[in-house]
Amino acid sequence: MDFELSDNHKELQQKMKDFFQKHIAPRASKMDISSSEEKLALMRENLDRLSQVGYLGHCIKEDYNGNNMDFVGQCVTAEELAKACASTFISARASAFLFAYPVQSFGTEQQKKAYLPYIAKGGKIGAIAYSEQDAGSDLLAIQASAEKVDKGWVINGTKDIVVNAPIADVFLVLAKTSSKDEESPAFGLFIIDRDTPGLEIGERVETLGLRGAPIAGLDLKDCHVSDEALLGGTPGKGKEQIEDVLVNGSLTLSAMAVGLGVACMEMATQRAKKRVAFGKQIGRFQEVGFKLSDMFTDNDLGRMLTLRAAWAYDNNEAEANILASCAKLFTSEALTRISNHAMQIFAGHGYVKGTDVERVFRDARFVEIAEGTTEIQRVIIAKSVLDKYLPR
Ligand SMILES: Cc1cc2nc3c(=O)[nH]c(=O)nc-3n(C[C@H](O)[C@H](O)[C@H](O)COP(=O)(O)OP(=O)(O)OC[C@H]3O[C@@H](n4cnc5c(N)ncnc54)[C@H](O)[C@@H]3O)c2cc1C
Repeated sequence: MDFELSDNHKELQQKMKDFFQKHIAPRASKMDISSSEEKLALMRENLDRLSQVGYLGHCIKEDYNGNNMDFVGQCVTAEELAKACASTFISARASAFLFAYPVQSFGTEQQKKAYLPYIAKGGKIGAIAYSEQDAGSDLLAIQASAEKVDKGWVINGTKDIVVNAPIADVFLVLAKTSSKDEESPAFGLFIIDRDTPGLEIGERVETLGLRGAPIAGLDLKDCHVSDEALLGGTPGKGKEQIEDVLVNGSLTLSAMAVGLGVACMEMATQRAKKRVAFGKQIGRFQEVGFKLSDMFTDNDLGRMLTLRAAWAYDNNEAEANILASCAKLFTSEALTRISNHAMQIFAGHGYVKGTDVERVFRDARFVEIAEGTTEIQRVIIAKSVLDKYLPR
């Protein structure tokens, strides 16, 4: 057993870390508080910078201008980017993973060629729109519909929270393809360009954290797309496709949690050394020191679990999906504890608006909610455990 990253991974990690700390981290605070227009401009610039360092092509194959990183590499770099700026991380991930991964995994050759080379180089920005006002965890409850017409589909529906909607050039949209009277519902993911008639971008959505990320809803009214817009070209595959994206995505969300956890650790330890109370550095008080030890332990365990799951994907282990769920469950809950400890160590001065610890505290809460809440991860893991240890 070897817990060391390979030399290649270490080199990649250092290169990305240096770049993100120099070009992304210094703008994180500004992105959180500036006006909507300013935020959009800053995010476009950040995505441009990430394309220069190859980050936007990390899960795209070389044939389509990407650099096809393995899963361990994706996690190592995701941790560094999320630590530098979580808003930039989720915007980059929405394009470079949530849009690109399904197109690469399930798309036709024509679809891959039309989008992946541009996503990899930052020439196009992608987004994914699957959840709705009344359908998040229960995706089968979505109302968006795609009706088959001659040589295409007509899509109607509303998506309410879509990362990158204000800046995306292209969307993957989940819609029901079966009619109401069909017994089992069928779904499709549709690739829809921003300028398609019938597609409208909604008002910007304001969120508790990740305020630098451009988020809005989508309205689709009689939005007519050709047959070529259906991902993979075969109707009825949308459910498996979106499930695969979400399970696989647990991995980089876990890495995001670890990155934010490291940010909390670094801020809290510095504060514990610098802040003096009752004539002592506060870190010398056992109650504060114990918080730091819990934070470190949680984060290190989370990283191990995340990299274990990444390694399982890289080695085609049968348990990779379930390990990714375990990693998402543990790291997201751990991050809530870690960010809470960081806030407590900063106390009143962390609660003040505009401080880094306050921003990271708000950003952190996202991971327990996104793409399979902690409750849903437990449901998935319990089912797998029951199947494994209590065969019917
Ligand atoms: C910042 C942000 C960005 C987002 N970006 C996107 C995006 O780009 N594209 C997109 O399509 N969506 C996006 N979303 C939506 C996100 O995917 C959903 O919020 C998430 O999937 C949870 O769904 P929900 O909010 O509808 O919660 P619900 O499904 O309504 O869940 C509510 C509560 O019930 C619990 N619950 C539900 N079912 C069960 C069950 N079977 N067992 C136990 N507990 C259960 C949940 O765990 C949760 O605690 C984003 C959300 C946020 C906050």
